Amino acid sequence: MPTDPNCVFCKIAGGAIPATLLHQDGDTVAFQDLHPQAPTHVLVIPRDHVASTRDLQAGDAAAAGRLIVVAAKLARERGLADAGYRLVINCGKKGGQTVPHLHLHLLAGRQMNWPPG
Ligand code: 5GP
Ligand code: ZN
Repeated sequence: MPTDPNCVFCKIAGGAIPATLLHQDGDTVAFQDLHPQAPTHVLVIPRDHVASTRDLQAGDAAAAGRLIVVAAKLARERGLADAGYRLVINCGKKGGQTVPHLHLHLLAGRQMNWPPG
């Protein structure tokens, strides 16, 4: 399973850096964001090191889709689904991405606005 020894999210997935884990399976890990931007702010990542959506190919459809399915499961379990929530993936500099390991943000617990900042 490809990981990057210098990547903070690979280290979280591997247990080398502590995080509040909310979900783990063979492919995917979810944990609380260190600097939450909403009452619920969870990051869902693939265990494999993929830098961003820029690197996704057709064969990654299932792995990418799993991030959404895990986020939806966590939202349901936490009673957030009825009120609604936002899923965000930032890509690259102009997309606002700061950690170069693909991650899906689950944001909930307050009204989200549009357009995003
Ligand atoms: P991005 O801006 O790349 O879409 O989101 C990166 C997110 O990762 C940010 O919301 C930031 O707070 C979070 N983050 C960065 N470093 C760490 C860390 O070491 N632990 C955790 N739990 N979150 C982190
Ligand atoms: Zn990584």
